[in-house]
Amino acid sequence: METNIEQLREFHWMADMLQNIDAGLLVLNRENEVQVWNAFMENHSGILAHKVKGRNIFELFPEIPVDWFQHKVESVFQLHSRAFSIWEQRPYIFKFRNYRPITGTAEHMYQNISVFPLTSSSGEVTNICIIVYDVTDIATSKLALENANQQLEFLSRTDRLTNLNNRGYWQERQEEEFAKYQRYRESCTLVIFDIDHFKKVNDTYGHQAGDEVIRACAQTLQKVTRDIDVCGRYGGEEFVVMLTNTNINGALKFAERLRMAIEKQSITYELRVIQFTISLGICELSKNIDSPKEWIELADQALYASKENGRNQTSIKNKTDER
Ligand code: GH3
Ligand code: MG
Ligand code: MG
Repeated sequence: METNIEQLREFHWMADMLQNIDAGLLVLNRENEVQVWNAFMENHSGILAHKVKGRNIFELFPEIPVDWFQHKVESVFQLHSRAFSIWEQRPYIFKFRNYRPITGTAEHMYQNISVFPLTSSSGEVTNICIIVYDVTDIATSKLALENANQQLEFLSRTDRLTNLNNRGYWQERQEEEFAKYQRYRESCTLVIFDIDHFKKVNDTYGHQAGDEVIRACAQTLQKVTRDIDVCGRYGGEEFVVMLTNTNINGALKFAERLRMAIEKQSITYELRVIQFTISLGICELSKNIDSPKEWIELADQALYASKENGRNQTSIKNKTDER
């Protein structure tokens, strides 16, 4: 008698504890009907236990993906094993609002869930228990960190004035392309160009106007290149592009198109119209070129030739010229 009362008291304590833990706890039967619904589930869903008892979980919460959920719980019924779902795979099962003050930015509660079998006295799994953990704090701080890292990475490889790749990152990409060429021998051509008489732009219109010209030049460059081409700001008013899968003939067409687009362009800065031109040098990668550095030096020599010959033009330099 004594032990029965003891047991009953323990049972009530247990029920009270489960009712009040800071995690969602629900029990479903084979037909997906709710059998148990604790205070956490009541508070966050806004639906009281007596309203959900015996009702189908998918009718109550249409946001639960039926096939996915059925598949997950099937193994729990069949194999008596546990199943899990983490927020990184699926942010939530129940779409509850997020009320946490510090993670107020999240629109909904991020959840991890754990599902385990409840065995009857005959050893059969007749019900399953689902525990829902609120992991909004962890999820939002991890997402914020990932976001910050992405931004940092972007900033570390981007030129602030033009949003093009900066010199350091562009050089990394150039080394990669050079290494790839050693293996696959797919044509790749480098174009380098420099704004003509840029000192005059600065002297005549001011440094700010000069910055605008550099920015406009970068924009035009981006307009005429494909996504796979790797553009970069190499120096003050000097730019580079690697044209992948492009031989010297293709590169020459590209260079001339870019040159003419820049020549036609006019920039208005504080009501004054600025026009400018560029000189270009191109060099196709070949097996005679020994290093990424040599490759860019050859293109630079071509650029120098364009300047020497009167600017606003394109010149080509091949390594084979010298052998
Ligand atoms: P050339 O036709 O021979 O290229 O003549 P240039 O006047 O363009 O000669 P150079 O390349 O030697 O001069 C580049 C000038 O660009 C020098 C520098 O003051 C200016 N410059 C470099 N970076 C920037 C920048 O970020 N903004 C501005 N406004 N000017 C810059
Ligand atoms: Mg210049
Ligand atoms: Mg220059």
